[in-house]
Amino acid sequence: MKIICIGRNYAEHAIELGNKVPKEPLFFLKPETALLPRRNPLFYPSFTSDLQYELEIVVKISRLGKNIQKKFAHKYYDEIGLGIDFTARDIQKQCKKDGHPWEKAKAFDGSAVIGNQYLAKDQLDNLNNLSFQLFKNGTVVQSGNTKDMIFKIDDLIEYVSQYFTLKIGDLIFTGTPVGVGPVQIDDKLEGFLENQKLVAVNIK
Ligand code: MG
Repeated sequence: MKIICIGRNYAEHAIELGNKVPKEPLFFLKPETALLPRRNPLFYPSFTSDLQYELEIVVKISRLGKNIQKKFAHKYYDEIGLGIDFTARDIQKQCKKDGHPWEKAKAFDGSAVIGNQYLAKDQLDNLNNLSFQLFKNGTVVQSGNTKDMIFKIDDLIEYVSQYFTLKIGDLIFTGTPVGVGPVQIDDKLEGFLENQKLVAVNIK
């Protein structure tokens, strides 16, 4: 399986990192080894001193497809969840400055944290109006709503499937809202989608 991550999909977040709001989706990949095994803590990597959280809506692909038109994109996923796209921000800044790829900063072991639980798409009223929040040690640090996504889920599926065959089990991290920030050892993160806790991780 592969993990496709969308960047800068919320205007206020693009601006907080000093980026322009994109005219077409920006994406990168994480390998399967980036998935943190369920219920494991994330050990703060030794190669960074600025590990940051990015809470994101995650779409789980349920059907094989290529060159999927937007109008059919909804047939390719049944479940929506939450994930945390962990980023070594100091390394990412250096990669950007050098014009290098981001993988060192974004695709390392444990950098993709997902929950055990997903919500069935059919049980959600409107995919373009889902609220989600990240709590750090019990305090809300990030709060987003899918209505603020620049490119909606079906747009993203159409776009990325031009380049990659989507396979069952692939995950799309759909971008993070404003409010990204650092974590420290012993922090506890919990993500809620429509008030249901779907993801949690401790930093060790
Ligand atoms: Mg992200």
